[in-house]
Amino acid sequence: MHATLPLMRQSEFPAIQRQRLETLQVNLGYKCNQTCVHCHVNAGPTRSEMMSLETVNDVLAFTQASRIAKLDLTGGAPELNPHFRHLVRAARGHGVPVMDRCNLTILEQPGQEDLAQFLAGQQVEVVASLPCYLEENVDRQRGKGVFDASIRALRTLNRLGYGQPGSELELSLVYNPQGPVLPPAQDQLKTDYRAHLGERYDIVFNELYVLTNMPIQRFGSMLISTGQFVHYMDLLKNAYQSANLGNVMCRSLLSVDWRGYVYDCDFNQMLGLPLAYQGRAKTHLRELIGRDLTNNPIVVADHCYGCTAGQGSSCGGALAT
Ligand code: SF4
Ligand code: SF4
Repeated sequence: MHATLPLMRQSEFPAIQRQRLETLQVNLGYKCNQTCVHCHVNAGPTRSEMMSLETVNDVLAFTQASRIAKLDLTGGAPELNPHFRHLVRAARGHGVPVMDRCNLTILEQPGQEDLAQFLAGQQVEVVASLPCYLEENVDRQRGKGVFDASIRALRTLNRLGYGQPGSELELSLVYNPQGPVLPPAQDQLKTDYRAHLGERYDIVFNELYVLTNMPIQRFGSMLISTGQFVHYMDLLKNAYQSANLGNVMCRSLLSVDWRGYVYDCDFNQMLGLPLAYQGRAKTHLRELIGRDLTNNPIVVADHCYGCTAGQGSSCGGALAT
């Protein structure tokens, strides 16, 4: 795979600082039952990196000490970590809202048959990838049969109350473009998703988060091999909107890798750009218990233009809605 960081390190992206920490995003490991073309984690079934129980307990200690407003669980497929349910139960037991970034097809994997019921029982918010409402596009990006399995999973979640009007069980979908283009307007696309999934499959959901593809890992490598990397970076830079700078997710989110080391965001984690803290080469979450990161400088490079282009992009969708 081609490395993109050497092409992005020299950057004129503005200097930014952290604000109050609200969300702890935890990468529980790189193992996944899928191998999507656009995966910025390079996850897949053969990856063996997995957060240990000791580090999971560090996450819980930090979450309580820092009064984290939301625990955001990601991977790979976070549910494949054997300590996933312990982490969810303990966090919910302390009243911390938990979000599971779910690829939907995991609900049909052997051993995960009761996963949907577990998530509903713990009132976990589900954020599910569905990069298009058309079967052909989803299967091209995420693998053959993924669209049908995703629809079955969404129906299961709906049956449990997820996404239903008046229900407290939140279900949101995530869209990203098929290629090196900016995503369409989030509000309009949400209307289209609602109409298509509702009329055709009787599926309901709460929000649609529209994400810009990041020029890193598998997607970045594809851009380099197909000679589109420079063009895509120009597209992101030319669409820069300074109004998005105040809302980029790294201001209020901290990302933790499977070993417990911390980064300003998931993308920096994947690029190997650790949090810049007191001159340390790397900082472990354990060392930050009881510390305040407000005003700490954020590590930026050219990939950050992916967060500020057009309507903006974050783990919670567009920034400028
Ligand atoms: S489901 Fe998510 S983590 Fe798994 S390969 Fe696809 S994009 Fe990567
Ligand atoms: S990639 Fe986005 S979220 Fe990450 S440091 Fe850059 S601006 Fe912040």
